[in-house]
Amino acid sequence: MIVGGDVGGTKTLLGLFEPDADRPRAVATHSYATSEHRRVGEILDEFKRAIGPVAIDAAAIGVAGPVVGNAARLTNVSWDIAASEIAAGLGTQRVQVLNDLEALAASVEALTAEDLCVLQPGVERADGNGAVIAAGTGLGEALLHRVEGRLQPVPSEAGHADFAARTEREIELVRMLRERYGRAEVEHVLSGPGLLNVHRFTHRGGECEMLSGVEDAQMPARISQAGLGGRCQQCADALRMFVSAYGAEAGNLALRAVATSGVYVGGGIAPKILPALRTGSFMDAFLAKEPLRELLQQMPVKVIVNPEAGLLGAAIRARELLKVG
Ligand SMILES: [Zn+2]
Repeated sequence: MIVGGDVGGTKTLLGLFEPDADRPRAVATHSYATSEHRRVGEILDEFKRAIGPVAIDAAAIGVAGPVVGNAARLTNVSWDIAASEIAAGLGTQRVQVLNDLEALAASVEALTAEDLCVLQPGVERADGNGAVIAAGTGLGEALLHRVEGRLQPVPSEAGHADFAARTEREIELVRMLRERYGRAEVEHVLSGPGLLNVHRFTHRGGECEMLSGVEDAQMPARISQAGLGGRCQQCADALRMFVSAYGAEAGNLALRAVATSGVYVGGGIAPKILPALRTGSFMDAFLAKEPLRELLQQMPVKVIVNPEAGLLGAAIRARELLKVG
């Protein structure tokens, strides 16, 4: 058996997989609140108690942070994760720590129509590159380079690159972000906390009733609901700005990757705001890259609606470790 993991800033998923099927098949999946644990070892202990005595042959864990030398420090939680700790916890030497977006990107070739919601059909090129963008607790991006016919995930820290303002309003937003953080990162706009920043911006000079009594962690979801339901005009405005900026950044990534095989929108936020992503403003912003609009119109753009895609990608990587011997 193999183990796939997805360690996010909010939630950690661990899955026990059968490696033999075309697509690794999860036989047990468990979810843990990341911040309630001090080390990954604690979560591994709970997981092992839950799955019982099973021999584990390989494990790959996607982590929301840069991976250096098979170890990672989470960006949004004060944690370190090393392959050695996972190896000791699970009793296998075949362990890979990888960036969470690299894991998500590794799932792309195994995803089926049920896992995806199409925003733009495009024309999928079997010889083209792909790209994955995912806003959640943070913003992640990965390229998928076509190497010998297969899509090879390449991680990045693009969420911490500079946010590119396109309108006078976004320039105002950048001013606000610079005052707050010293610079404006893409993630300061495109993430759960980013949506809160945009909400702050659209509510300047006024309170928002929607957030009274709401816990910090629940605020982005509440803003999305208030925006989708039209219960607060400024919340709706914040969601519109968010969706447009998300489309624009997905377009930036598509250009950088020349993603003629497809652009995949993952992460926890997209499935929750699907109606807003389908209004057209996401794709309008995605395509507004003259003179390359036609190139972008040919690219398939799909939302990953399977919340366990990252876990599946990690399991696919774990299975590859078995081949190494
Ligand atoms: Zn509001």
